[in-house]
Amino acid sequence: MFPAPMTRAFALAAFAVLIAVPSAAAQERTIALVGGQLLDGYEAPPIHHAAVVIEGNRIVAVGPAAEIEIPADAEIIDTRGKTMMPGMVDAHVHIMILGHGDYSQWFPWFEGNDDLVYETSARQLLAAGVTAGVDLAAPMSSLAFRDRVNRNEVPGPRLLVSGPWVTRYAWDFLPDELRVLHRTPEEAAERTRMLIDAGVDVIKTWIGTTEEDMRAIKAVAGPAGVPIHCHVYEEEVVWGAIRGGCDVLQHAGSGGSVPAYSQELVDYIAMEGIPVVQTISHRIWIYPATLEFPERLWDPDIINSFPPPIREQVLASYTKDDFWRKPYFRSTPRQIRNSERASRQFIDADALMAMGTDTGSPLNFHAESAWREVSALVDMGMTEIEAISSATKVAAEVLGLRETGTIEPGKLADIIVVDGNPLFDINVLGYVTDVVKDGIIYKRNGVPVWEMEAAQASTGGDR
Ligand SMILES: [Zn+2]
Repeated sequence: MFPAPMTRAFALAAFAVLIAVPSAAAQERTIALVGGQLLDGYEAPPIHHAAVVIEGNRIVAVGPAAEIEIPADAEIIDTRGKTMMPGMVDAHVHIMILGHGDYSQWFPWFEGNDDLVYETSARQLLAAGVTAGVDLAAPMSSLAFRDRVNRNEVPGPRLLVSGPWVTRYAWDFLPDELRVLHRTPEEAAERTRMLIDAGVDVIKTWIGTTEEDMRAIKAVAGPAGVPIHCHVYEEEVVWGAIRGGCDVLQHAGSGGSVPAYSQELVDYIAMEGIPVVQTISHRIWIYPATLEFPERLWDPDIINSFPPPIREQVLASYTKDDFWRKPYFRSTPRQIRNSERASRQFIDADALMAMGTDTGSPLNFHAESAWREVSALVDMGMTEIEAISSATKVAAEVLGLRETGTIEPGKLADIIVVDGNPLFDINVLGYVTDVVKDGIIYKRNGVPVWEMEAAQASTGGDR
């Protein structure tokens, strides 16, 4: 009677140890990260041979290690030879999907497995160095999951969530719980009120939303202090969203299937400081990378981060080595031809750009989406320090997360350590060795704590 497929029961048994994550007591301890280069999230020179001291969940001291007093009882994380930086903030996350190649197969499987999927996505993001993000389309069950993560009951980034998106368009194979449909601006306002009353942090509008719809949504969301994130590609749609009061332009400037924007639009967005989240690496960077090296779909660092039933689903979606025939990639070659010009437009205009990945879309695995996006921003003309700031300080500001995104005294202790110098090679962001979120160590020397705990539990059981 109870809808518990065998796969789910198996997965929960195998990962039961995960529930035993950091206790409240862990938050009282003192941690010091000592010895490495420090990037604080600003576009500023690094501090070499630095130290960061954390008490509870706050940063209390930052500077050259020689000038910082390390408390005698501190747990030391040796960062010599590495780089410390703020945890990354992803301004476009999807925790209900995780890189599976075919939505028409994935969504039916997702239903009934939502918590397992959310937990897997959240762990993968956190292990990849993402310590905060906004989820932009998931069923209402994502709100309860957000609360569990934000109470540190399960590992994952600090989460803001939109719940279902607001749209006039029903896509056949998307689950009904993923969207709230409207036919008039009045209905759009009503749906927005319903979502805000249910406790969403942001509103996500999806395709088909008109300028009048946007005005009606803004009339409800604006006074409630709830920002509107808008899925936009075409120039006219972008203008309409802006005139209607959209707060964050999502996907704009990633190319898509549309021509590049007019200089008038780009200059207006830059001058007005309207935040843009490009999501340029989904489809258009990852697709050629996978054509070039299809072996990456079997990368153990990615594949082994899935619990067995999800691993089977994901691998099965790519086994034929013909991912380019998947519906999701049907127009990708054309999008690639449009994308470079579109991506550079906002960077050249020095618009306010927050890093966001659309993580979880096909081929766009949570285990690597953040570094790939930052790397794509550098390819398109950002300096390394600018791209890192876009992925930390700027993204946190755009999401209204004022207490994270930089490393400075008083801020929340969300810090990652990467193996090497990202100012020399940005791709070292793919080698996150240590993750601290909210003063809790979630990854140490390249190994997530839940894997350590699982290993300890299995050796303990042998005795
Ligand atoms: Zn998205």
